[in-house]
Parts: sequence; C-alpha cells; structure tokens
Amino acid sequence: MVTDCIFCRIIRKEMPAKIIYEDAEALVIDDIYPKAPIHKLIIPKKHIATINDFTETDDRLLMHLFRIVKKTAQEEGIAEEGYRVIANCNHQGGQAVFHVHFHLLGGKLLPW
Ligand code: 5GP
Ligand code: ZN
Repeated sequence: MVTDCIFCRIIRKEMPAKIIYEDAEALVIDDIYPKAPIHKLIIPKKHIATINDFTETDDRLLMHLFRIVKKTAQEEGIAEEGYRVIANCNHQGGQAVFHVHFHLLGGKLLPW
C-alpha cells in the first residue's frame, strides 16, 4: 500500500468510488471520467506502479485480473457486442495513475 496513491486510497476505502466488484486481490470501479457508456477500471489491490513492474510472482494475479475483465464484461452485457481493454504505461502511453489498472470500455462502437 502506498499512502499518496489514489487507487490505494480507494482500496483502503479512504476515498469514495463506485465499487462494482471486490475480492481479496482486486477491485472493479466505475471510472470517474467515463470515455464510453461503460468504463470500468480493474485494479489489483497490490500496489504495482506500471506494467514494467510486473514480475513472475504476479503471473497468477494477472490471470485473475483478466478473468475479472471477462466476468465484468459479461455482467455489464457487453461481452457479445464487444469491448476494449486498455492498459496505459508511463508518459507516452498516457498513464496518469501510477498503480496498474485495466480499462474496460464498451457500450458503443469504439473508434480506434
Ligand atoms: P490512466 O491514464 O492512468 O490509464 O487512467 C487513469 C484513469 O483513472 C482515468 O481514466 C481517470 O478518469 C481515472 N481516475 C482518476 N482519478 C480517479 C478517481 O479518483 N476515481 C475514479 N473512480 N477514477 C479516477
Ligand atoms: Zn497504489
């Protein structure tokens, strides 16, 4: 846990968020500035700053996060129509929050 990290604070319930799903290892919340009709963030509870910081010890966690992506898409009713999963990394990738997360976007035809 990192004190000044927004997502760590949301995980610790020190900051409000619309929590869609929670288990021991992950949290799914609504993005505060949605870029599509459905815009969820899948966040590991473990503070990992960027994709570059994943190690072999996180292999199982990554699989778990992707299973949550799939489950969330199904529950939001966008699995068949289709959706997009995005992870931004560092400055040129447009990363703003330095706690790894996957964006799940859907509910409309997404421009590339
Ligand atoms: P990044 O650019 O780091 O991949 O995306 C960070 C995302 O987090 C953005 O889409 C932004 O709207 C969202 N975000 C930033 N601060 C908050 C917050 O306090 N609460 C929620 N729910 N989302 C946030
Ligand atoms: Zn964090």
